[in-house]
Amino acid sequence: MDKKYDIVIVGAGPAGLTAAITSKRVNPNAKVALLEKKDVPGKKLSASGNGRGNLSNKNCDSLDDVLHFFSEMGIAVRMDEEGRIYPYSEEAKAVSDTLTKRAKRLGVELFTECEVSNVEADPKGGFHIFILSKQELHAEKVLIATGGKSFANYGSSGDGFGFARNLGHKITPLVPALTAIEVAESLKELKGVRVKGEASLFNGGQLIFKEAGEIQFKEDSLSGICVMNMSSALPVGEKGRSRDSLATCRIALNFVPEFSSADLIGFLKSKQEAAEATAFDMIETMVKKPLALAVLKMAGIQADAQAKDLTLTQLLAIANHLRGFSLIPTGRKGWKEAQVTKGGVSLDELDLETMESKLMNGLYFAGEVTDYDGPCGGFNLNNAWLQGLRAGKDMASHV
Ligand SMILES: Cc1cc2nc3c(=O)[nH]c(=O)nc-3n(C[C@H](O)[C@H](O)[C@H](O)COP(=O)(O)OP(=O)(O)OC[C@H]3O[C@@H](n4cnc5c(N)ncnc54)[C@H](O)[C@@H]3O)c2cc1C
Repeated sequence: MDKKYDIVIVGAGPAGLTAAITSKRVNPNAKVALLEKKDVPGKKLSASGNGRGNLSNKNCDSLDDVLHFFSEMGIAVRMDEEGRIYPYSEEAKAVSDTLTKRAKRLGVELFTECEVSNVEADPKGGFHIFILSKQELHAEKVLIATGGKSFANYGSSGDGFGFARNLGHKITPLVPALTAIEVAESLKELKGVRVKGEASLFNGGQLIFKEAGEIQFKEDSLSGICVMNMSSALPVGEKGRSRDSLATCRIALNFVPEFSSADLIGFLKSKQEAAEATAFDMIETMVKKPLALAVLKMAGIQADAQAKDLTLTQLLAIANHLRGFSLIPTGRKGWKEAQVTKGGVSLDELDLETMESKLMNGLYFAGEVTDYDGPCGGFNLNNAWLQGLRAGKDMASHV
């Protein structure tokens, strides 16, 4: 390892790898070092999308730039029916390996097991990059691409937020996002149930989020893609503390979104006519057994009550709980389960075309370390590619 570089990139995730490759392609003479804490680059990328790597989405910003980059890297991709873009082989690790090989072939100096402990501005120009092993580098431009704070076992444990703070940048509150939502009610009896439905979030009675999809019940929390997306919409309290900010929130789950209230009442009334039918029998084929029992319990009706004896008010109560199963959110599952970090280096302090700091020339940020968090479906990786491309291009054009 030399002591002086034109460009030092901290973190070899998708953002750092893309920036390193782009900077060498734009300026082959630039001396570029890519420093990675773990033993191999792109550990989180390799694990993304359950190992399949949902790389982008047809609805992402500047998708053409990202697809062009994949094509130039020789990364074959395909889109599913819902517009999610995956590597053709559905193997995320192959993407990480391809980018790592490309970076090395272009002359990027990659150092693994190389943990950066701090980045400081040099009053004479450029930056000092301090490595845990006591080495110190100097670079004209530095890109911090250290990722967020979640799944720290893949390498991103929030180091970049500290570097940014020390360099004078504002960090918006850091909150685990795209994660399961804890609820006040015990869901023990529903544990393991998966149901297709619609999840809504209300704050102070106002609808602030609604999405259809699979809802998964865990003992103390809800999960599933629509719930994970909902976790990003939960209000963030001061310094990221959620409890107080959630006091006015309520989740409503609609297990029968295709039914209007009137249709549902009609359906329940028709079921009342069957001889010997119980309240449970009425909704047995509508939702899975544990859910049917929970709905009846919430409606205050015995499962073995005679269907024909139920009043209209009781039918309405069943319908209301099928269409608006109400739960009180109490928090988000923490950093070990969150797919992304909400919050980060404030976007107000970055030039989003180049990813350069507006506070300090030569300082760049890209990827999840910035205050960007998108929904499930490829948006977070897309952001890493895109910001990596922009930072790499700008750094290399100015050394
Ligand atoms: C389980 C899981 C599945 C996911 N699936 C998807 C998906 O399918 N689609 C999608 O769009 N998003 C997905 N995400 C989110 C996505 O993976 C991240 O948003 C993306 O990897 C962020 O890229 P990045 O380059 O900014 O950071 P990272 O991928 O976190 O890379 C940062 C790199 O910096 C290194 N680093 C950190 N600190 C230091 C330091 N001090 N010194 C040196 N190196 C350091 C880390 O080791 C790491 O390699 C998933 C996340 C998880 C956890």
